[in-house]
Amino acid sequence: MPSNANSKFRIGIDLGGTKIELAVLDASNKVMMRKRVPTQAQLGVDHIISQITKLYLEAKSSYPAHTLGIGTPGSISEQTGLLRNSNTVCLNGIALQRVIEEALNCSVFIENDANCFALAEATLGAGRNFDTVFGVIMGTGCGGGWVINKHLRRGPQRLAGEWGHMVLDPTGLSCFCGQHGCVETFISGSGVERHYQALNNSVGEQISCESIFQMALSAENSIAVKVVEQFYSHLGQALANLINMMDPDAIVLGGGLSNIDGLPELCRKKVAEKVFTKEFTTPIIRHHLGDSAGVIGAALIA
Ligand SMILES: [Zn+2]
Repeated sequence: MPSNANSKFRIGIDLGGTKIELAVLDASNKVMMRKRVPTQAQLGVDHIISQITKLYLEAKSSYPAHTLGIGTPGSISEQTGLLRNSNTVCLNGIALQRVIEEALNCSVFIENDANCFALAEATLGAGRNFDTVFGVIMGTGCGGGWVINKHLRRGPQRLAGEWGHMVLDPTGLSCFCGQHGCVETFISGSGVERHYQALNNSVGEQISCESIFQMALSAENSIAVKVVEQFYSHLGQALANLINMMDPDAIVLGGGLSNIDGLPELCRKKVAEKVFTKEFTTPIIRHHLGDSAGVIGAALIA
């Protein structure tokens, strides 16, 4: 594969479930180009690769000297080289790096999307002034990433940061990973919705996570109040466990749920109740880069 190790620009591509986004950074990490295209995962691997190729060729024509990093849900197995645990399920079991390198005729780096988020926020965003940063993604699912002195901690099995599958309640709801009561079953949009449904007897009623938080705010619905209280209690417990283990310099919150009004403050209060010190000082901060963090982090890994 052609190597662009001394390149002036960094191209990042973020593979989402419904869109693929590209960004180009210059040597000072300024965003030079940004573009997103829709993708339909149900059209399969070939469709996704062709959308990636189109975006890449457009960027390459303007920025020929570049590196390329790609962020994706899931991770590449060190043993098999195949993608696993992606919620774009058609990509699971695919040798994604090889397939993309062949399509683009260019070497690529591939990284988990939560790690990309954490790296971007720890380097250029809310965590940029801190040494050890834990980046949290709470959206449809729940992920995380550790960045230490601007470097990702991946681990020999690429498991670092997978706090979404730490078990908080073994008697809790089932998780796709095979366990019960994982952090992700509480700290995610789908988790909040499932807990609401489990307590609500109105069969078939689908209530969005956003509505559940709204109803809890006005206290008009006791089930919503209970589910949201449970959400904050578990979020506090899960982060207190992490802080007791690693004592990071800062925690940066990202993903759709992190935008709920007052969430960092309430979260902080709950952590303070559970962490193993009476003098709790860890900053818990909302993201600064918004939904650009994923694609910027993808560019930074290469
Ligand atoms: Zn799980």
